[in-house]
Amino acid sequence: MNDSYRHKGLRLRLVESIKRKGITDEKVLNAMSAVPRHLFLDSSFLEFAYEDKPFPIGSGQTISQPYTVAFQTQLLTVKKGDKILEIGTGSGYQASILAEMGAKVYTVERQRKLYERTKSFLPTIGYGSVKCFYGDGTKGLPAFTPYDKILITAAAPDIPELLIEQLKPGGTLVVPLGGSNLQTMIRLKKKENGNLEQERFGAFRFVPLLKNKADD
Ligand code: SAH
Repeated sequence: MNDSYRHKGLRLRLVESIKRKGITDEKVLNAMSAVPRHLFLDSSFLEFAYEDKPFPIGSGQTISQPYTVAFQTQLLTVKKGDKILEIGTGSGYQASILAEMGAKVYTVERQRKLYERTKSFLPTIGYGSVKCFYGDGTKGLPAFTPYDKILITAAAPDIPELLIEQLKPGGTLVVPLGGSNLQTMIRLKKKENGNLEQERFGAFRFVPLLKNKADD
């Protein structure tokens, strides 16, 4: 794995900047210091890997901005051993951050090429424990239900009912909710009695959560 001192230095600088933007959870910051983000980008774009910006990863999709990854991860309050379902695998970067924090990660992607690439890539950098699936994540992943946490990494016009069903009582779901332009980050908690409690956070911009598998 090509992870030089130069890369590590750039990564620490990125983590410092994310800290200045308000991320305080040490576990999140440690995971971001550990996962080599440059390996998730095409090698010709190496110099962009440690800027706090989103980046195209093919099939019209993007690897989220590091600050956004940190923000969603912090809201999820990840604990070691948590069973987490991620909707929108993309590059696999977010899934690797969760795995680095000791979570058992299940992730679903609707673009076949991205799914195949990420599924074969993650084991080569030590994140082979992440379980990748090709499918429509708005239906969740019923085979491994219930989940302690669910993380949606695409803009959802509404919260898919099936995902709420697949969340454990006491569990937490984080989703950017809204239309194509701007979304509000929502944290949904499912109480032990099944009641739902919603908190709203800042505005973010994600690629859309689309129904059905992409037909390529
Ligand atoms: N978490 C990713 C970034 C996600 S970009 C990373 O760390 O790189 C959002 C991803 O969600 C895209 O790859 C898109 O194809 C995928 N997506 C959109 N709708 C989906 C759906 N219904 N099911 C599964 N994946 C979906």
